[in-house]
Amino acid sequence: MISLVSAGKVLWVLHVAAWYVLRRPFDRRARKVNLTVDRRKGADTARLAVSLAGLGIIPAIYVATGQPHFASYPASTILFLLGIASGILSLIMFRLTHKALGKMWSVSLQLKQDHKLITTGIYKYLRHPMYTAFWLMALTQALLLPNYVAGLAGIVGFGYLFFSRIGPEEVMLQEAFGEEYSRYRARTWRVLPYVY
Ligand code: SAH
Repeated sequence: MISLVSAGKVLWVLHVAAWYVLRRPFDRRARKVNLTVDRRKGADTARLAVSLAGLGIIPAIYVATGQPHFASYPASTILFLLGIASGILSLIMFRLTHKALGKMWSVSLQLKQDHKLITTGIYKYLRHPMYTAFWLMALTQALLLPNYVAGLAGIVGFGYLFFSRIGPEEVMLQEAFGEEYSRYRARTWRVLPYVY
């Protein structure tokens, strides 16, 4: 029988692959629209690199080689099952956010030609539901990979992007949409209803 450790690794790979496949068509369409504001700069590229290392490269090394061995701990069925649940939830959230944001989506801090403020779909309740989906993705990684370094790398890597980007992103949208954004901000939560 396949061990829980191997099953967790397989599911982690499938989860990332599913995320990639789900995002691709939206990414293609969104890239066709010209940018009017581009605040990508060095800081945001660094954030994306740290996030990629934590959510992708470090866990991929662990899945392929088992490294770093010293940080491994025994797998647990309950964590594994919770990992499956959060993985499914994260994919559902990614789909909802891409559907709602459509061509207004970009990987970095950018505004598109004729950028519209999206306040419908999942954005009716949350201002940053895609970041909620990424938090769930990082949680899934922590639950599926029984290794302190590989498992927690996603939370640390994405956490860095999240906490350093959310301020500048809201400033950019505030400058672009003024009063409309103030009102939207007043009636929504950032990533988790009733909490944050
Ligand atoms: N922070 C959002 C979006 C992430 S994608 C989320 O977590 O769901 C990043 C880009 O989305 C930003 O460059 C910004 O231009 C755009 N964006 C963020 N919120 C938006 C909104 N409510 N309407 C339109 N575009 C938005």
